[in-house]
Amino acid sequence: MTRLIFLGPPGAGKGTQAHTLAEHLHIPHISTGDILRQAMKEQTPLGIKAQSYVDSGELVPDQLVQELVQERLGQPDAKSGWILDGFPRKVTQAVFLEELLETIHQSGERVVNLDAPDDVVVARLLARGRKDDSEEVIRRRLEVYRSETEPLIDYYRDRQKLLTVNGNQSQEEVTTELQKVIAF
Ligand code: ADP
Repeated sequence: MTRLIFLGPPGAGKGTQAHTLAEHLHIPHISTGDILRQAMKEQTPLGIKAQSYVDSGELVPDQLVQELVQERLGQPDAKSGWILDGFPRKVTQAVFLEELLETIHQSGERVVNLDAPDDVVVARLLARGRKDDSEEVIRRRLEVYRSETEPLIDYYRDRQKLLTVNGNQSQEEVTTELQKVIAF
């Protein structure tokens, strides 16, 4: 059973790697960013509430993302495992997730920390050109990452759940290292 959480700054390659690995393992890739962008496109109540936060690079309020993750992990395909990408993004969300996984009998998760230096991730994001990828919003997302999300590295290391992969290498090299690291 594979249950993985991907951590790392925007532009580290989480989305790409999570997608590839999930396909390989036949388990769902659950990206809170993708789910929020889809909701925004469809202008659902969730999308309407999330819009201003996403557009400015701020975190969406916990309750919104927590509800969506709880709902998604309750779906039948999540019983065979999952990769969570973009959640948790702060300690309060990690505590929520830990309790949720206990309750729904889905504990045993491991955490992949995919890191890369700021200059590398900024260059990659600028090349990608998503709507929230203007230089100003990218800088803000990175700041939010370093202050809110990076503390999760220690949080999961303390709980002996942390695996680390160097995101500053080619996509293929990251995939190879990732498969080695999770095989243990
Ligand atoms: P990236 O990792 O490239 O910055 P994501 O696609 O993971 O982008 O997330 C895009 C945006 O969606 C974030 O900047 C934030 O506004 C919102 N978001 C995604 N996941 C969460 C979360 N767990 N908590 C709060 N906001 C979130």
